[in-house]
Amino acid sequence: MTDHDTVDHTGPCGSSGAECAGGACGPAPAGPTGPVLPGPSAGQGRGIFDKELLDRCISCGFCLPACPTYALTGQETSSPRGRITLMRALEAGDLAPDDPTLAEESSFCLGCRACETVCPAGVQYGRLLEQWRDHQWSGRRRPWIARALMMLVSRPGLLRLQGLVRRHARGPGEKAAPAPSAPSSASATASASASASAPSSGKPPEPSQQPVSLMLGCVERGLYPRVSRAARHLCPEADVPTAQGCCGALHAHNGDSATGEKLARRLGEQLPGTILTTAGGCAAHLAHHLGRDRVRELSEYLAEKGHRPAGRVMVDGRRARAALQDSCHLRNGLGVTRPPRELIAEVADYVELPSAGKCCGAAGTYSLLRPADSKKVLDPKLSEVEAADVDYVVAVNPGCLRQLEQGLRRARSRAKAIHLAEFLALATEPEPGRPDPASRAHGPKEP
Ligand code: SF4
Ligand code: SF4
Repeated sequence: MTDHDTVDHTGPCGSSGAECAGGACGPAPAGPTGPVLPGPSAGQGRGIFDKELLDRCISCGFCLPACPTYALTGQETSSPRGRITLMRALEAGDLAPDDPTLAEESSFCLGCRACETVCPAGVQYGRLLEQWRDHQWSGRRRPWIARALMMLVSRPGLLRLQGLVRRHARGPGEKAAPAPSAPSSASATASASASASAPSSGKPPEPSQQPVSLMLGCVERGLYPRVSRAARHLCPEADVPTAQGCCGALHAHNGDSATGEKLARRLGEQLPGTILTTAGGCAAHLAHHLGRDRVRELSEYLAEKGHRPAGRVMVDGRRARAALQDSCHLRNGLGVTRPPRELIAEVADYVELPSAGKCCGAAGTYSLLRPADSKKVLDPKLSEVEAADVDYVVAVNPGCLRQLEQGLRRARSRAKAIHLAEFLALATEPEPGRPDPASRAHGPKEP
């Protein structure tokens, strides 16, 4: 089964999924515009999925306009509704486990969970996808790149080795990290005028008096240790326990949710009190397994503690123009959207990209497993960055940071990708008598 009909982008009320107030008009009637996939058979299922979760979908189609892969293909099977229909067919035994469409669509899905935010029935698509991949990607059917990465991050010795090779944030009593370097073609200087603190967004849990432990993160330890150093610089009250493993998000998203949960619980024991993380994806995974009150992503933590940036980020004598790329799981899983925007707006001129809340195509291992599709998801965003003429694109997840870095470099953009921690750390006073490191990095503009 490879060919499928395209369905309408609107709900029965005429609104798109994003606009619909919540499905007040009820489910769309089944009809010629509906999916043409096999329906579930009566009787016992295979036990792959949580039946209650699978049954929750009412096939209304409100999620279709929110789905980046549906936007790419226009194919029902590449939509959330189409994939849930595939899951039901798999569960019911109407499709063989080795059906190529199952393999393709379980892999093509970004796992961005944008569909959850517009679903009137409260379908937990992210959980269903984990259960699907637990079955679909078991054993040797798991892509070898995912296998290799999961093996790497599961070994504490290898993680410690990364810390030795790349100096990460240090423990209490050690010198705080210096501010990160500034972008080429941009000079970052400080303004003594501090601005108002950023309010928190949504309905965060009550702040606790617990100790705070900074999570170093697997990707960050290897690729971006400077992000952890900048976070430590912003939150000197946080401890940085040296013995900390992987949070397990990588496993949960790549077909081994049991190990994903085990690693999350172990990390919860290794990091006392509030777990502070600079990775939106890790925050959502940990919050799911340890409880929301145990976990804070950096921007919401700073907002809650009323962080007041010391200065502004300047570029060529003017306030920098900066946009945000949301982390999908931070936005769609935890609902954190305002704190990073408000923090950026404290220190620079904030520019909202039209697709800021849409996936950048990084999606964990996706950019490695499906580089061509990942690029297709990212490319429209790169055009928006150029149109907006921003100096920085700020990320709140290391995977997004890597994706944006590579994309902007490929597009020969003058904009620089930067993590929020580094960006906020740029807004500090340069030491008296010492050249501003940003000025040293300032060079001629690229053509
Ligand atoms: S996942 Fe939600 S929005 Fe999408 S078809 Fe099912 S019930 Fe409707
Ligand atoms: S997780 Fe993202 S890519 Fe996958 S079905 Fe939902 S919206 Fe589409």
